[in-house]
Amino acid sequence: MAVEDSTRRGIGVSPGSAYGPVVLVAPPVRAPEGEPAATDPEQTKGAVAAAFESVARDLEDRAGRVEDTAAEILSATALIARDKSLLKAAGAHLDAGEGPATAIESAVDEFVVQFEALGGYFAERVADLRDVGARAVAAVLGVPAPGVPDLAEPSVVVAEDLAPAETAVLDRALVLAIVTSGGGRTSHTAILAAQRGIPAVVQCDRALELVAGTPVAVDGDLGTVTLDPSEEFVADLTARRERRAAALVDATGPGRTRDGHPVPLLANIGDVEDAEAAAAQDVEGVGLFRTEFVFLSATTAPTVEEQAEIYRRVLAPFGDRRVVVRTLDAGADKPLSFADLGPEENPALGRRGLRLSAARPELLDTQLAALAVAAADTGADVRVMAPMVATAEEADWFARRVREHGLPTVGVMIEVPAAALRSRHVLADLDFASIGTNDLSQYTLAADRMQGELSDLLDPWQPAVLDVIAAACDGGAATGTPIGVCGEAAGDPLLALVLVGLGASSLSMAPSRVPMVRLALSLHSRPDCQRIAVAVREARTAADALRTALDLADPGLRDLL
Ligand code: PEP
Ligand code: MG
Repeated sequence: MAVEDSTRRGIGVSPGSAYGPVVLVAPPVRAPEGEPAATDPEQTKGAVAAAFESVARDLEDRAGRVEDTAAEILSATALIARDKSLLKAAGAHLDAGEGPATAIESAVDEFVVQFEALGGYFAERVADLRDVGARAVAAVLGVPAPGVPDLAEPSVVVAEDLAPAETAVLDRALVLAIVTSGGGRTSHTAILAAQRGIPAVVQCDRALELVAGTPVAVDGDLGTVTLDPSEEFVADLTARRERRAAALVDATGPGRTRDGHPVPLLANIGDVEDAEAAAAQDVEGVGLFRTEFVFLSATTAPTVEEQAEIYRRVLAPFGDRRVVVRTLDAGADKPLSFADLGPEENPALGRRGLRLSAARPELLDTQLAALAVAAADTGADVRVMAPMVATAEEADWFARRVREHGLPTVGVMIEVPAAALRSRHVLADLDFASIGTNDLSQYTLAADRMQGELSDLLDPWQPAVLDVIAAACDGGAATGTPIGVCGEAAGDPLLALVLVGLGASSLSMAPSRVPMVRLALSLHSRPDCQRIAVAVREARTAADALRTALDLADPGLRDLL
């Protein structure tokens, strides 16, 4: 495909293409440091009142345009903006010599403390309270409100980056594509976009210079954003989308190589909605349910019954298809407020994942109890796995605890190089394992997955990562333990061939990626995959590895990439 001059480049992290107008997501604004005191406090009180009022009206307006729960939430948030005592508290701060934006922030901080002390319903409103505060600060400073604006028409959302919670609530019908200047190929924005089937480009060159309303064409496969594309360009993009769609029509059924070697193709999911959407698609089950995504905005630990209800709704749609549930992988880039162990110097190397479960075993036990209830109630094929396992002792500790809860099928994620290199020992008492290539790349190359600038190091084609994956697979073969892959690499059709060649027994990915991977497997025999894997491991660089795989792949696949 031709790349026009007006093309900005980034990394394609969620497949598909789209064409539509740009909508910019304003970054959150803070009160300016050392904001001067109001010269006329009475007049400034009026301006602060007007700011809260405009926030309330804006929220009510939006409530009128959406339905049910979303409307209720927005109306309830508007009531916070209209709260007289919040306005009074801001007034007291103005009288005490603070500037208007600072006074709003101080008042909100006071209320946050009170809401948290009250607990229950009030504690759950803290995020809404902060949202009202941030909007009122923006209003009083005369700058755009932070966050994803209300979309009036299908649009391309452009941001520096999006918080997982923001990405999770995007309206699929109105968000044509996501473009960010930050993020990375395994950042959670990228994962959630692929999950929702929204084409996305991260690390996009000069993305924040795009002007609202400019029509752009986004290619989530090539990682390009083309400004004001010609009709011909858009037609070309559409034709390629159609060519792919046509090639994928016959790619259905269980995943298998051309010579019939089965490679179950599974879905990565993050909540009930994902589960319902994935279950309706042609997937053989779930290879990764990221349970922490369900609780991103919870401020108190969910009870057994609250969790069991959610898990029943996730499991039921899959009938007798397997569902691999990962226990809470909290910490680092996925903080959960009820599982916070305090600040750490290096959170990605700290007490996250299973390490956090070891520090707070009651959280793990509650989750396992809830899973056992949901499994019994639905009769589902539930398999439980731990995140961030590094040693054989950790794997044994986890397996014992899971089995004590009557859950018979236990595995671990292999995403720490130590566990990959010693997988023969780590897997000795387990039923399965799943390689998390996102964290495995981060830890093998010592490159923070949240640092978009390090995306070259985080490239899963890095030969060192492939070697570590190979070591993990060898341990699986030695112990007869099935070892799949559930990191983003599993959804790359070319890498999928390499992973199968290295010995991966199943591949789990965003459902939007399954058809292309299925097609890629169907065009290659298992010995083809093994040959490609051997050749790729001879490469010296990530770019060489990719080129080698492309050269050896079937031309029918190459044409569609
Ligand atoms: C991984 O690390 O590859 C993985 C699948 O887990 P997450 O992306 O949720 O950390
Ligand atoms: Mg991980």
